[in-house]
Parts: sequence; structure tokens; C-alpha cells
Amino acid sequence: MRILVDERLLDWNLAWSITFRTFGYTNHTLLPEALETWSLPLFCELLPRHLEIIYEINSRFLDEVRRRFPGDDQRVARLSLIDEAGEKRIRMAHLACVGSHAINGVAALHSELLKTSVLKDFYELWPERFSNKTNGVTPRRFMTLANPKLSDLITRKIGSSWVIQTDELKKLEPLAEDAVFRQEWRGVKQANKEKLAAYIRKQTGIELDPTWLFDIQVKRIHEYKRQHLNVLHIITLYCRLKHNPGLVIPPQAFIFGGKAAPGYFMAKRIIKLINAVGEVVNNDPDVNRYLRVAFVPNFNVQNAQLIYPAADMSEQISTAGKEASGTGNMKFTLNGALTIGTLDGANVEIREEVGAENFFLFGLTEDEVARVKREGYHPGAYIEKDPQLAEIIHLIASGHFSHGDTEVFRSLVDNLCQHDPFLVLADYADYVACQDKVTEAWKDPEQWTRMSILNTARAGKFSSDRAIREYCDEIWKVRPVTVELSINK
Ligand SMILES: *Cc1c(COP(=O)(O)O)cnc(C)c1O
Repeated sequence: MRILVDERLLDWNLAWSITFRTFGYTNHTLLPEALETWSLPLFCELLPRHLEIIYEINSRFLDEVRRRFPGDDQRVARLSLIDEAGEKRIRMAHLACVGSHAINGVAALHSELLKTSVLKDFYELWPERFSNKTNGVTPRRFMTLANPKLSDLITRKIGSSWVIQTDELKKLEPLAEDAVFRQEWRGVKQANKEKLAAYIRKQTGIELDPTWLFDIQVKRIHEYKRQHLNVLHIITLYCRLKHNPGLVIPPQAFIFGGKAAPGYFMAKRIIKLINAVGEVVNNDPDVNRYLRVAFVPNFNVQNAQLIYPAADMSEQISTAGKEASGTGNMKFTLNGALTIGTLDGANVEIREEVGAENFFLFGLTEDEVARVKREGYHPGAYIEKDPQLAEIIHLIASGHFSHGDTEVFRSLVDNLCQHDPFLVLADYADYVACQDKVTEAWKDPEQWTRMSILNTARAGKFSSDRAIREYCDEIWKVRPVTVELSINK
């Protein structure tokens, strides 16, 4: 608007029409604390002319709201581009909604929740602007580049066009019943796990046996993603092994990776907890025959390419309603990992595609999470009624994993016991029960491999080619252009 009005000297209405028809707003989070608001005094000092233009946009916008909802001053205040409570702030998501002809979320559930939560008032104003565009990932990076062995095996069986037409992965479905193919499929996974184990040994000194079940959670560290729920399950297995010296369980390696935001104290404590539990587990001969924990430092897209192809299990365990989509979930599925997950983000659609029988589902649904919160959530009640959970919390609090230091995890434990904003304790029992089903399934390698093949075969929807095509067709209204490649000339 500033360029069109001030530099190109267009009149306001024409400039607005061009701006509005140019922009689409893709929302990427439902966490209200992650929606940006900018301090108005700061904005005024740095970008005074932009602020004038925002005031003019807001004035015209709120006139429209008043015409549509006469007398509804609270609605006007809720929709305004300026938050007037406390120090004035500019609501960037509102500015994006007002200035865009299309508004979308990045998974079906997320797009529905936008309409009933953070953008509810905008949906009531302009329902026709809203749509869903489920995210995707590129098969060129996350399959052919990251997993050449699996890609070659697939191409040998069904040809190479799946790389640009991922729906053709469906042709793998009948091969799930081919015992020789299953053997080759397992061989590829095994080789990928050996490569990752060698990388982890080099980076951390931790030895992982590539014949073990590789259970992997890699993503930014955040309370809503619940890496600490994963840790509570690991400590559960630790307790079972310590209490029952003769117990035999399928050996499992729990692999984590991910960065915390520099100022996010609790996320850094979660990293500390993972490493602390790992140090005790990995060095205790009572348990390290069945259990190892590794934290891969510096998770990034480079080492990610070693990690996703090596997973047997993909951990997608966010509190339902909090993960907009997730894309790691898609990378794992395309590479033949099975998912343990909640009905959150794109997990919902992954489960629909691969089939409920090939997906390990647990946990409260988004509706149930909302109801529990409405009715008053008391995490302490879960500890009182579950002696196993009580023992685990006590072990962490008493310094069992921190050389007797009772301070280092106090804030983490207190937060879980008193507030638990992401319902870790509410989902704990169901998560552990579901993990027990995972280890039962792992005992049958032929059936496991069938499920793995079907996960890849049915994950074609999660290509970014499909996602980008939907943006082109339904939002940007652009047609494909044929490009002459010069590489063969
Ligand atoms: C895919 C990817 C993510 C996103 O992971 P989620 O599990 O969807 O949160 C984050 N970091 C890297 C390096 C990735 O490759």
C-alpha cells in the first residue's frame, strides 16, 4: 500500500484492490502466544508512514464491521488491528486477514480450529475467504536424496515416476504380501539404522544396536510437543526393568533431537532431562541391555536426512489441537516409519490415509482437551491415583537422574504437578498402554514390515507437489508454465 500510494501515486481504492487481490494469508500456528503483535510506540518510531497507512486500513475496516454488526462494540474491539488493552500493540495476524483475499490453515483440523478459535470473528465476517491447504514435504529431498536405498528399491519395482507423482506409491501395496520384497525392505531400513548409529556414536559416544527398535522424536523442543511425555515412558520402562530383574522386553533405542529457542527456559530443562535420564539408563547394566537413550546434538535439515530414514517409530505426541500440521510426521511416514500419535495436525490425515490399523493412536482428542480444561484440570489427581506415575515423578524430583541435585528439575516437576498446561499427565497412562502395543507389534517382524510398506505406499498425499498445486489452483490462480531445460543441449 505504501509503495502503490506514495511512490506509484495510485488512489487508495485502486491500491487497496491490487493489494487485496495479491495477498493470501497462510496461518501456521494456533498458539495465541505465537501470533505476533508489535509494540505500537516502537512501530511509530521506526515506520511512522506505515503506521498512518495501518490506521487508515483499520478505520475503513472497522466501519465495515460496524455496518455488518451494528452496536456490537465488543466485536469491533476484538477485530481491530490495534490491541488497546495495556500498551497498544498491532495485531499482525489481523492485518494479514484484512489485507488478504484468502486465508488458510495447513492441515484439515488446523483449518477447522482457526474458524472456531483464533480467527473466529474473521470467519463470521468473511467465511468465503477460508480454506485448507494441508502441508507437504518434497520427495526429492526427503526420499531420493535422504534415502537412496529405499528410493532405488521402490523404483526397481514400480518405475521412477513416483518421484513426481507420489500417488503412484500406491503400486507398492500388493508388494506388502511379497515375502522377498519385505526382506529387501527390512534390509534397507537396517542399513539406514547402521548409518545413523555410526553418526550418533561419532557425535555422542553412545552405542546403539541397529537391530533394536529405533523410536525417534526429532522436532523443535516445546512443551506442547511433549518430549517430556516420551521421557516419562522411558522412565516407566526403566522402573519395570529395575523392579523385575528377570524381565525380558524387546530392546529399544529412544532417539531425540531438536533445538530450544534461546529464551525458552522450560524447553532447555527438557533437553537437560533427556540427557540426564540417558546418562543413567545408558550406564546401568540392569537396563542398558534393553534400553538406550540418545540426544542428537544440533538437529538440522542436514542430519535430519540421516535420521528420518532410520526410524522404525515416529513420535508425534503433541497435545491435540496444538500442532498446526507438522511435517516431520510426513517425512517419517514416507520413509516407512510407523507413527505413535495423537489426533493432531496432519496426524489425523496420515491416519486416514494409511489406515487406522497401521497407526498407533492414543490420547485425548481436541474436544476432550477443551472439555477437561473447561471443567478444571487437576494434574495432581493423576499422580494420586497412579503409583507408577507417582514413582516416576518422585525419581525425577529426588535427584535420581541428576546426581542427587533436587533443584535442577524442580521447576519442571512443579510445573507438571501444579499446572501441566499441555496435559502430559492426563495422557500418560494411555500413551504407555499404546507403547506396549507398539512393542507387541514389533515382535512380529513380517507384520511390522507389511505395516511399514503400507505407510509408505499410502503417504503420496503428503508431497509438497500436491500442496503447491492446491495453492496454484485455488488461491494464486496460476497455471503451470513449461520450462525448457538446457542441461541436455
Ligand atoms: C521437518 C523438520 C522440522 C519440523 O518437524 P515437526 O516434527 O513437524 O515439528 C523441524 N526441523 C527440521 C530440521 C526438519 O527437517
